[in-house]
Amino acid sequence: MKTTQKPLGFEEARQIILEKINPLGPEKINLMETLGRVLAEDIIAGRNLPPWDNSAMDGFAVRARDLENAGGKNPVELKVIGDLPAGKQWKGKVAAGETVRIMTGAPIPAGADAVARVEITREINRGRIQALAPVQPGTDLRRAGEDVSAGDMVLKAGTKIRPAEIGLLAALNQASVSVYRKPRVSILATGDELSPVGKTVRKDRIISSNSYSLAAQVTEAGGIPQNLGIARDNREDIRSRLSRGLQADIAITSAGVSVGEYDFVKEVYRKLGVKIVFQRLSIRPGQPLVLGRKNKKMVFGLPGNPVSSMICFEEFIRPLIRKMSGDRNIHRPEILARAGESLEKSARHTIFLRCRLYRRKGEWWAETTGPQGSGILSSMVKADGIMIFPENQERIEKGDLARVQLLRDEMLGIVDY
Ligand code: AMP
Ligand code: MG
Repeated sequence: MKTTQKPLGFEEARQIILEKINPLGPEKINLMETLGRVLAEDIIAGRNLPPWDNSAMDGFAVRARDLENAGGKNPVELKVIGDLPAGKQWKGKVAAGETVRIMTGAPIPAGADAVARVEITREINRGRIQALAPVQPGTDLRRAGEDVSAGDMVLKAGTKIRPAEIGLLAALNQASVSVYRKPRVSILATGDELSPVGKTVRKDRIISSNSYSLAAQVTEAGGIPQNLGIARDNREDIRSRLSRGLQADIAITSAGVSVGEYDFVKEVYRKLGVKIVFQRLSIRPGQPLVLGRKNKKMVFGLPGNPVSSMICFEEFIRPLIRKMSGDRNIHRPEILARAGESLEKSARHTIFLRCRLYRRKGEWWAETTGPQGSGILSSMVKADGIMIFPENQERIEKGDLARVQLLRDEMLGIVDY
């Protein structure tokens, strides 16, 4: 099919893909498995944290007014009526002149209103101590509910779960939690030249590395990859495998979308009732990217070249997976970096340049990772980020600021050298 209309731009294509996408339905999972997932329910505290007034220190539970005049030269003597380790409750009441030896976290006994930490006491014997300084009521006490009160809304649906959230949910005795489901993403490689990884490789074959890089990208984005293997360049093989792939939340096919003699992928889409939304973008690499839709399901026909495949995934499918997972931050963090070299291109395309990043005198610098051909997988391996050289711009001079998407979040932690 000939298309004469102007190819779609980068941002417009992204918008078409991402608009109207809602998170997938919720699933209840074990708290231990929730790291990195997104809450699909509001969490209301069913209990106080801490559950009771307790000691913040190892020391002695006291009545503050008993110690009003205590000092180094004027110690106040108290009778130790018992020991209270964490996990024990004191049955009686602390009366005037009495104290209970208390460990951090143990509930404050009735009658006591402060803790005299060990450091301001002196032991005469196991049964008697001296307090050497006064304490205010409430000193070294943790109040019931001071962290969380029963009935508080502590976490909202849409919160991304980190170790701190897991700790809080655990403290609230929430053994399972409702989170948004992970999108299942099918991956079908196509091409007569392809051989699976790990088998003896004929001389005229290349290995289907895209099956692996894409599966890893799906996992990293928070999806569940489903490998549909390699379809030969014939309509029936592609059709039967892709019809299975369409049961996933997102289907990806790799290669066979150019204008070559054996590029049947788009034809098969149509046969399977997949409507083609766009099939040419003004981007490089990734120009022949195809978006198809069947009902609400999205199908991506990625170009076969390894870098094109990875970049198209990065720019279009990764944010989609994250949005479907309920994540609010769907894009890579971006920085402005100074170009380490002058760059030139036509105004017709947005170009994604793979860059190595470094810091100098408090500023980011980005340098391309050598040859940028769409088959040069090592340009991705060396990359810390992707520089966006936008449409309608023909030059970037050395030292100009440019947008760079960070492929490694930890880069934000590097310092000048
Ligand atoms: P095509 O889009 O079918 O014209 O393929 C473009 C280029 O990508 C060719 O050089 C293919 O050999 C290469 N290619 C296609 N599929 C894969 C794959 N699964 N893994 C690695 N390279 C591939
Ligand atoms: Mg091919």
